[in-house]
Amino acid sequence: MKLKKMMAAVLAGVLTLGLLSGCGGGGEKKAEENKPAATEAKMLENIKQRGKLIAGVKYDVPLFGMLNTQTNQVEGFEIDLMRELAKKLFNDPEKVEFVKVESKTRIPMLQNGRVDIVAGTMTITEERKKQIDFSDVYFNAGQSLLVKKGSPIKSVTDLKGKKVTTVQGSTSAKNIRAKAPEAQVLEFPTYPEAFLALQNDRADAMTTDNSILIGFTQKDPNTELVGGLFTSEPYGLGFSKGHEEWVKFINDWLQEIKTNGTYAELYKKWFKEEPPK
Ligand code: GLU
Repeated sequence: MKLKKMMAAVLAGVLTLGLLSGCGGGGEKKAEENKPAATEAKMLENIKQRGKLIAGVKYDVPLFGMLNTQTNQVEGFEIDLMRELAKKLFNDPEKVEFVKVESKTRIPMLQNGRVDIVAGTMTITEERKKQIDFSDVYFNAGQSLLVKKGSPIKSVTDLKGKKVTTVQGSTSAKNIRAKAPEAQVLEFPTYPEAFLALQNDRADAMTTDNSILIGFTQKDPNTELVGGLFTSEPYGLGFSKGHEEWVKFINDWLQEIKTNGTYAELYKKWFKEEPPK
């Protein structure tokens, strides 16, 4: 009896470890049965065979991935990057299907195999690395504040007792609680909703990456960024775990477009300046 119990405990431990490390383990096999072909071990091969890339992108972030309601097309730096990737894979920038992700859905969408890759203003963090894999950094941002012009809020320290909006599942929501523990944080599913709350005076400030806030100030010149950058947010492309060959392919491609000028061209198109060295 005692021995049986011990064996069971050891077995449970092995299974847990297997699951945690994402290699082997009965749980993973079961999950795989429900996944489309593209999430099996040979990801790259399967994508090529399928004949199109399935990219998870933002529909709610100006400059990076934003739905143009007039054309019903999603537009932005990350959209163009994914078109470049389709060009690399298929010699055709149109061979990409865009799937909408939000900050809180992007990791589950990778894990359940719905998308091959996420290009969605996603900061590389140690916590997220436990759930998904990341490419090398392709954009550097930092968290900041957006307020209405003339606001008494000039930095995070002024948020005490104030309402600040941000988005669910973002590092911004987590960071602001640490940086301004006495602020009231209002979380929305998407960035335009968070921005609207600021515009309607339901909040005193909005917080997320400077790169995202800049896109919103361009929509409303009555708003401005204040307080400088108070975190570092390096963006990585996201992948479900266990596809080293696919991640390596992406990192080599990132290197290639940085070297051949394509990256700089796209950067200038969207941000109207040279990419930082
Ligand atoms: N880069 C931050 C993050 O990954 C904020 C932007 C976003 O929500 O996508 O959480």
